[in-house]
Amino acid sequence: MAVNNNGVDVCYNVQTVVDDKHSLIVDINVINNPTDHGQLSEMSKQAIDAFEVNSIKSLADKGYYNADDLKACDKENITTYVAKQVFSNSTGEREFYCDRFKYDKEKDVYVCPAGYNLKCTIKTPIKEDTKHIEYANYEACSKCQYKDKCTTSKQGRTIRRCVDQDFLDSVDERTAKNKELYKRRQMIVEHPFGTIKRGWGLSYFLTRGLQSVKTEISLAFLAYNMKRAINILGIKEMIKRLEGLLHLSNLYKAYINIYWEIMRTIRVKYEPI
Ligand code: SF4
Repeated sequence: MAVNNNGVDVCYNVQTVVDDKHSLIVDINVINNPTDHGQLSEMSKQAIDAFEVNSIKSLADKGYYNADDLKACDKENITTYVAKQVFSNSTGEREFYCDRFKYDKEKDVYVCPAGYNLKCTIKTPIKEDTKHIEYANYEACSKCQYKDKCTTSKQGRTIRRCVDQDFLDSVDERTAKNKELYKRRQMIVEHPFGTIKRGWGLSYFLTRGLQSVKTEISLAFLAYNMKRAINILGIKEMIKRLEGLLHLSNLYKAYINIYWEIMRTIRVKYEPI
């Protein structure tokens, strides 16, 4: 899958839900899908179940900006705040990125940076899975002085509009109106990742295979949650709460119960943001 330096490597994609109040891990998953599309609704639903609430607010980065997934969240009472994904054009000229084309809803046209109207040329998606309709004005492009900066297509520039764009616009508006809330996303989610990767040096997996990697990272996050719980409750309170569990002879069972004790503790303290 794609990695940070624009290269490709064999990787695992670790998904986490982190609670806003205590930076505790609520749930995790490991997938081998190179994108995060489709994960937001699944992971947020796990948080709803863990906290036993009817609704939550979910903050996610632009990797989760996917109309189907965001609509699935909407249906489950998950209010999403997700950074908008801005697509570049083929020339890489910032002034001609897609977000510089303004949509005029009344006329159903896109106004390009040169001031021309791009009309809808393909009203139904070409393929079921693309879910885009297209806007263009090749006549204007043919005599436009900016054509070389705008597109590499000989024919002219085409703008694609998602069939769910109106819905995506409402998500964009909500995210833009809640900038301060959204800014906290990085602080919340990077707390555990920063601790585990930078603080503890767990920057690569020792095991291979989805199940093994999931077990490995689960143990790391369990250790992280326990350390956080000790920091939050204090060692005496933690010992007190764990004493009732120590009679269990089965070590595995004890660990599971400790985990759920931690989860119960954060659930009691949790107040939806
Ligand atoms: S090339 Fe076409 S779309 Fe691009 S700025 Fe010129 S007229 Fe507008």
